[in-house]
Order: sequence, then structure tokens, then C-alpha cells
Amino acid sequence: MSDRATSSVETSSSDNTPRGFARIVDGMPASDGAGVSLLRVVGTPQLDFLDPFLMLDEFKNDDPGAYVAGFPEHPHRGFETVSYMKSGKMRHRDSAGNEGVIADGGVQWMTAGRGIIHSEMPEQSEGLLWGYQLWVNLPAEHKMTAPRYQDIQADGIPEVEADGIKVRLMAGDWNGTKGASQTLWPVGYLDVQLDPGVTFAHQISTTANAMAFIYRGSATSGDRVATAHQLGVLSRGAEQVEITAGDEGCGLLFMYGEPIGEPVAKMGPFVMNTREELFQAAEDFRQGRFA
Ligand code: MN
Repeated sequence: MSDRATSSVETSSSDNTPRGFARIVDGMPASDGAGVSLLRVVGTPQLDFLDPFLMLDEFKNDDPGAYVAGFPEHPHRGFETVSYMKSGKMRHRDSAGNEGVIADGGVQWMTAGRGIIHSEMPEQSEGLLWGYQLWVNLPAEHKMTAPRYQDIQADGIPEVEADGIKVRLMAGDWNGTKGASQTLWPVGYLDVQLDPGVTFAHQISTTANAMAFIYRGSATSGDRVATAHQLGVLSRGAEQVEITAGDEGCGLLFMYGEPIGEPVAKMGPFVMNTREELFQAAEDFRQGRFA
């Protein structure tokens, strides 16, 4: 349990120098749910938290034994879970009767708010299951909001293609195109594919934190290179972000968001501001007060 948010990036780029990778983070192999093998990229000792992002997991496996047990019934309170499927199908069910399948390029933006109990189970027993789960924190004023789901299939995600760049916008914006999801806090989540040597540029708020997870090839930003399965955490301070693909091109997830700047109290699936609120969450769950 940690009571304080820690700022992970201290370096700032000055004046008009575009942001570059301030550090490169390796993911950590982990197991979660009922034994799903995954790579934890944010939410590890190396990178505990990049406000407002609490966790990023990659699951990518063609061995059903590594994923088929899925994530049986569990609660959440106080933040949002964002599931993005690159390949394969995941069925979501909750105790309030909501149900849906996210498949092959679709995204689910789930606001847990004051509390849900759900399961996330692979809807396949063979082939490649490849997806991501991102946890986005909520400010105190939204932690106890009503739960909400945005299930968006692949064809509902805006896609922009030009000059060796393909961008899918799950949230946020890019070059005048807006993302598919409504968010309670200003965040962006883009799937960016670049031809060899091509530069992805974006202008974001000077106060936002930003990170890029490389899922294919390699990319350079500033004077650092990140390769597949590494996360580049961008320096702070400038509006301009520039990320350039290496010789084999690059696929990356680009995430940015305003830091919330509040204390973070975490205990498993609950993320609140104080220890007392965590105890209350556990008690409410025990007493059956979640939806
Ligand atoms: Mn969950």
C-alpha cells in the first residue's frame, strides 16, 4: 500500500526542444487473475506510477495455457480500467448484468467509480490472445461516480492514415481527429504505426505526462531508443512530442494525461486517496454494497 504519489520523471525539456524519452523502462513478467501470464509495464518497482496512469499490462500469448483461466470475478473502485484488444476476444460480465465482448481492435473504457464486480474471460481456447489493460486514476471528485462502460468495437475507433503514419484513436486527439472514448479526466490513448524512419509528432499540454510502449520494432525520441516491449517515458515541459521509427518501422501505444496530483492509496483492485477510504472499500465489498 502506498500513500503518496511519486513523481517518476524529474527531467524537463526546456523552451522549444521537443520532448524525448527521459527514461526507458523494461516490463516485468507477472501473473494475474487466475494465472494469466503478462508483462507488467507500469505498476512495478521500476515504474510504480506515472500520474494519472496506475498500471499497464501487456498480455500476448498463443499458448492457451497462459491465458485461458482469465480474470474471474473481482471488484474495482476509484479508477478506470481500459482494455484494448489487438487480437483475440475477451468477454466481460458484471454483477449488474452488463455483458459484452471486446475483439480484434476494440476497446472497453470502464469507469469503475464507486464499485463494480466483474470478470474478464478469454472467449477463445486457441490462437493468439494479444491485448492491453491500462488503469487510469480518477480525481477524488470522480472516484465515487456511477460505474460506466464504453464498449467500442474496432470499426468505431477513428483511424487516420497519412505519409507512413497510421493512428487509431481510442481516446484524446491527434491532428484534429478526436478519440472514440469519453474520459472523465484529460487523457489520450493512441495506437500508432510508423513506416521505417517516419516521425510521429504530437502536441500535448505542457503539464501532461506521456509515455510510449513499443510493441513492434524500435523508436527513437530525443537521444534514447526503445525497442519492442519497452516503455519510453517522455520528458516534461514542452508541447511537442517527436518519436521516430527505426529501420523496421514501429508499432507503439502512446498515452498522455494530466497529472492528478492527489495522494494515491492502493490496495489490490481499489485505488483511493486515503487508507481509510481503502478500508471502507473493502468493507463495502464484503457487505455486498458494490453493484
Ligand atoms: Mn478488472
